[in-house]
Amino acid sequence: MTTQNTASLNAVQLPQSPISCSNFIGGKWVAATGPQFDIISPYSGRVIGRVGHSTAGDIDEAVRSAATAAKVWGRTPIKERCAVMFRFRQNLLRDIELLSHRISAESGKTLAEARAGVMKGIEVTEFATSLQNIESGGKMEVSRGVTCEYRREPLGVVAGITPFNFPAMVPLWMIPIAITLGNAFIWKPSDKTPLTSILIAELMKEAGLPDGILTVIQGGRETVEAILDHPGISSIGFVGSTPVARQVYTRGSAHGKRVLALGGAKNHIILMPDADPDLAARGIADSFTGCAGQRCMAASVLLAVGDCDALLKEITAKASAIRLGEEMGALITQEARERIRSAIDAAQENGATIRLDGRTPQLGQEWSAGHWLAPTILDQVKPGTQAAVEELFGPVLSIVRVKTLSEALAIQSTSPFGNAASVFTRDGGVAERVCRESKAGMVGVNIGVPVPREPFSFGGVAESKFGQGDITGPSSLDLWTDLKKVTTKWSVASDQNWMS
Ligand code: NAD
Repeated sequence: MTTQNTASLNAVQLPQSPISCSNFIGGKWVAATGPQFDIISPYSGRVIGRVGHSTAGDIDEAVRSAATAAKVWGRTPIKERCAVMFRFRQNLLRDIELLSHRISAESGKTLAEARAGVMKGIEVTEFATSLQNIESGGKMEVSRGVTCEYRREPLGVVAGITPFNFPAMVPLWMIPIAITLGNAFIWKPSDKTPLTSILIAELMKEAGLPDGILTVIQGGRETVEAILDHPGISSIGFVGSTPVARQVYTRGSAHGKRVLALGGAKNHIILMPDADPDLAARGIADSFTGCAGQRCMAASVLLAVGDCDALLKEITAKASAIRLGEEMGALITQEARERIRSAIDAAQENGATIRLDGRTPQLGQEWSAGHWLAPTILDQVKPGTQAAVEELFGPVLSIVRVKTLSEALAIQSTSPFGNAASVFTRDGGVAERVCRESKAGMVGVNIGVPVPREPFSFGGVAESKFGQGDITGPSSLDLWTDLKKVTTKWSVASDQNWMS
């Protein structure tokens, strides 16, 4: 057993004084009328902001403002809407450092992870700017003198509800696409990480987005329920944990809204004894420790097939060398840290052995009140136990030993979740079998975090997603628009057929 106790100085700049976070309605910052809460930085455990939660009355005001703005925006030519997104993209690039420090300060990510999240958001914004080339759909002469065409029409006011772990990237999966398609968008950021939303709203305004087209509403559960119940909102994108995703999908759909709700995950990596040691060690260690394990694409269960001892040693060495605060960030809350530590204790009681123990990291004085947990590797985890089945959402890798690939696939494909699955092997036949037989929306071959690059879309299956289509890419257009079919005839054709 190795004990993880590294600590190093971090370059993240925390705000000097607490930032006050309001709602952004009609292009102005206005205080939410509900109760106020502190925002705590995972790095220091200190208060770095205050946020007010919104009431049903605040939502009503936001929807009215958004609905008025949407009427004009929806009729604005798409080229003009795209021009705003081109400028927004430039603003994101220009302010990426400012954004990254803000993201890191409130979410606990490293600066490199925060920058990567913004870059992915920029990539989706670029996809949105390309919509001017595809949005008009197709037109065809379907019979003599008769044409049929597709038109995508905006829905009006739509909303997005986002989680704490990607304060910029996940919102940017939705906002640029929904707005470019002609909607007014109401964004409810995570109540734990609302501070980044201030910067994003300002960058959109600076890009020339008309007032009311992007609204930011702060709050938690009650605010979300008011959004789900409001008759003026047509469609909702949600990203968060599975229990909440299910509730949001059920309640929103019951009100006749279109809902796509992405949920949690328990991602499996299948490790074959023939895997390339460098690819496997780097890919698997990065996957379970990146974002301190707080990402829905993180490796969580390693299904080690046959004799993988040499590979497991390499993975353990890689993970134990990770410097906390520099290469790996902190957990979102003290409660999350205690919950995950208890899960590690429980796994040990259930017979797992600990290859790498991150429960008591040593940190310098400055960060000692932060929410730290170092990489932890559990071995001989029994299938069906908590560490093998539940989403822990921390830097914990559970190794389950299996004898055959069939056994590994049986475990993977019976997980209730279905976000990501990967295999590390040098055998193309094995890789192809995993691609075919694994139950996951996103599959990787020798890739620990198989996030598709745009325009390949993002989305899982099973209990990792409720609703149709994906949250990015071409199918996301169906979440934010209606597809109208227009059939036209201007004169009676000389020769007639069955559809004349
Ligand atoms: P969460 O479900 O607690 O919160 C998500 C959003 O819902 C937040 O805006 C929050 O304020 C709100 N919310 C929380 N509880 C609610 C309730 N009872 N009713 C209504 N709204 C509520 O998720 P989180 O802790 O912020 O984020 C982590 C989770 O998100 C993990 O499970 C992770 O796997 C998942 N996630 C999934 C994806 C994906 O693409 N599938 C991406 C990122 C995160």
